[in-house]
Amino acid sequence: MTNPLLTDSPLPDFPAIEAAHVEPAIRQLLDRNRRTLVSLLEGGAEGWDGLVAPIERMHHRLARAWSPVGHLNGVMNSDELRTAYNACLPLLTAYHTELAQNERLCAAYQRVMDAEGERLDPSQRKLLENALRDFRLAGVSLPADRKQRFGQVMEKLATVQARFDENVLDATNAWSREVSDEAELAGLPSTTVQRARQAAEAAGKAGWLLPLDAPNYQAVMTHAESEPLRREFYEAWVTRASEQGPHAGQWDNTPLMAEILALRHEAANLVGFASFAEYSLATKMAHEPAEVLEFLRELARVSRPAAQREFAELEKFAGRPLQSWDVGFYSERMKRERLDVSEEALRPYFPLPRVLAGLFTVVTRLYGVRIVGRPDTAVYHPDVRYFDIVERDGTPRGGFFLDLYARPKKRGGAWMDECVGRMRMSGDQSLPVAYLVCNFTPPVGDQPSLLTHHDVLTLFHEFGHGLHHMLTRVDYPSVAGINGVPWDAVELPSQFMENFAWRDEVLPLISAHVGTGEPLPVEMLKKLQGTRTFQAGMQTVRQLEFALFDFRLHAEYQPGGPPRVAETLAEVRDEVAVVRPPAFNRFPNSFQHIFSGGYAAGYYSYKWAEVLSADAFGAFEEHGVFDRATARRFLGSILERGGSRDAMEAFVEFRGRKPEIEPLLRQMGLAA
Ligand SMILES: [Zn+2]
Repeated sequence: MTNPLLTDSPLPDFPAIEAAHVEPAIRQLLDRNRRTLVSLLEGGAEGWDGLVAPIERMHHRLARAWSPVGHLNGVMNSDELRTAYNACLPLLTAYHTELAQNERLCAAYQRVMDAEGERLDPSQRKLLENALRDFRLAGVSLPADRKQRFGQVMEKLATVQARFDENVLDATNAWSREVSDEAELAGLPSTTVQRARQAAEAAGKAGWLLPLDAPNYQAVMTHAESEPLRREFYEAWVTRASEQGPHAGQWDNTPLMAEILALRHEAANLVGFASFAEYSLATKMAHEPAEVLEFLRELARVSRPAAQREFAELEKFAGRPLQSWDVGFYSERMKRERLDVSEEALRPYFPLPRVLAGLFTVVTRLYGVRIVGRPDTAVYHPDVRYFDIVERDGTPRGGFFLDLYARPKKRGGAWMDECVGRMRMSGDQSLPVAYLVCNFTPPVGDQPSLLTHHDVLTLFHEFGHGLHHMLTRVDYPSVAGINGVPWDAVELPSQFMENFAWRDEVLPLISAHVGTGEPLPVEMLKKLQGTRTFQAGMQTVRQLEFALFDFRLHAEYQPGGPPRVAETLAEVRDEVAVVRPPAFNRFPNSFQHIFSGGYAAGYYSYKWAEVLSADAFGAFEEHGVFDRATARRFLGSILERGGSRDAMEAFVEFRGRKPEIEPLLRQMGLAA
């Protein structure tokens, strides 16, 4: 019987994939790749065509097999799949470390660069430059003992980080709140209440059941009039995977955080960096730790006084000192009073089908491509849909799986991931395919999912990442789409896309009242736009708190000493925060971005990229948001080029100059 992970179909055959296929497929591909590599190197393969192209091809094959496994593990988690997935992690890490440490391969790539560097096209040359840089970072020329230690550290790190994630998922799934007295639900949106009723029914209980997922947490924090309910939810959320809170000590990530920081620091030292922060910056648009800290503190200088004013105003509005679990609730009330617009009141104007159709129209008007549903495509869950992206003349360009609703066993948050990378090399061709995942409130009964404007922004954001992946023209997977793009530039296309969801020209395209079909009325539109700068200072310092915490934690780590997680967070809060969380807050224990995701010593990238994206969108503000010439330049200089060129050069080519910070400050209403 054929293993569905090993076929060459353009899309994964989701219905056929079982946990039992995973390990055999991955083992077989790893064996085959190892044999191919040996025969290339021993057979004296040289040059781009002889050496680099076959290696690109085999990596592409492996990525295609592994992608649906990682994806399903995130969105359709089961014990069997998790076991299979975890069994493969050390195999893959060992394989990648081995490759990254292959001295002969490094030397062979260097020979290709020396012999053909002048003749190769820029994306081929960038691919080689990246590969040679990564060999350097992986300590290829280290003495054997240190090299071996490096491999062990990286393997261990992958396993510990995966455990960090599991702890968060388990701790999240373990907690829910039963409600028997309807009065306790006062203030909550009706969709949340209905969902809680359904959850209780499904569990065979009377009353209402509020599981600890992101939409429920958000709804309770923002709307629940009951302070005890808010406090309980807050405590459950911010103590997940820690020694505090309702499941204290059960999935505690504290020792894992210490282990992760120690392993990262050791890895950085082994390859010649003073800290993991320096190691992280070796592949980024920013180059020095001081540059990053200065950038963050510059933004803090401008935004903290504004944040302090905003918080004082909020406490005055509430008429009492506020706790962390009060801030969202009173902010929403104040916003509603001042701007008379609540996220919940906007929901009926943003039914998902309308938002999606409007988003697709925006993409077509900007870039000339069309988005076409393919309802016959096999998917892994009835909520999931597949779409093709096609040129005006019908030529296929790529596609995506759209998985938008929260459900049990699905990781929280929203993200875009690569399903298939674009590849075009003599005879072989594959089109880029993405996964676009959100956790929106599911449809209730026959009513479509109704989005908040924040949800709309999330969708535009992830779609921006998706376009970066799917519109790429680069032929080599390693530098196509988001691959090879520095982390601190990777959010440029996504945050750039969010800007459209705020515009007069776009809101009528993405809104239509679920009952009447009316677009968002002009006065609501104006108020909505007013919300963009509402508490901009508080929001900015919150992001700066995360960014400074992450960066300092990795920059200042001292081996042998305590990891100083809580201390660093406290110092950062002294420096930038205006809301002081309670002592039981263990936010770092579920901070997956930096402990298990790709943002370690890189969380600053969000703000860094906001500067880039606000400035890039400035070009559209100058020429018109649907200006085809500007869109063509953005497409040609940035989206289509992916990681095949230097991020700063690409930006300068598009904008005609280096990025400037003022457009972001203007956008946030923080300009002096
Ligand atoms: Zn993003």
